[in-house]
Amino acid sequence: MTCPYLAYRSEGDGREFDVERAYCTAAERFVQPMRADICNDRYDLDHEVDCEIYRAAEQ
Ligand code: SF4
Repeated sequence: MTCPYLAYRSEGDGREFDVERAYCTAAERFVQPMRADICNDRYDLDHEVDCEIYRAAEQ
């Protein structure tokens, strides 16, 4: 399961790209590549445990 706040956009956060990138709708900014592993629950990562932005948004 991926984080419900994860979206893919080519525009936002005052920036624009040719291809869609991971965007956090909770933080309203593009996600750094390393954090995208958390957003997608890759490897043994879990957005509910490992992302402070998710936890803050859910409070
Ligand atoms: S940065 Fe955190 S809250 Fe935002 S999409 Fe990724 S896991 Fe979810």
